[in-house]
Amino acid sequence: MENQTPSAPKNVQPEPPLQTNTRPETRQCQFCGQIVASNYYYCPYCGKKLIQPPITTLAEIGIYLFSLLLPPLGLWPAIRYLSQKNPRAKRVGTIALALTVIASVITIWISIVSFNSIIKTINTQLNTTPDLQNLGY
Ligand SMILES: [Zn+2]
Repeated sequence: MENQTPSAPKNVQPEPPLQTNTRPETRQCQFCGQIVASNYYYCPYCGKKLIQPPITTLAEIGIYLFSLLLPPLGLWPAIRYLSQKNPRAKRVGTIALALTVIASVITIWISIVSFNSIIKTINTQLNTTPDLQNLGY
């Protein structure tokens, strides 16, 4: 019996050493079907995102600043994080949403106040300058 032809591709590859002592949990990549460790954030075979990477403190502060400084745009990360299952992401989303609302209210309030003060200034100037009226303006 001849079970080896010279042109046949070798499909026997050396088995990679399995790390059974640390994390035996695995999951199947929903994009390419490969078995990967369950603690992987990205699939090593196709590069797709498997689970949401944890939020770093720096990213968290960045999101809060973004929500505070650019009120309407802060809604986007807030909703994005609120839709995640991760409880920490949900908390970040909730705080970002609250900051967005607070920042929006403050922005609107400042706009109204400054608009009113401009109107008042104009009215005061018109009322206290009778010369302009006498000159026919
Ligand atoms: Zn994959």
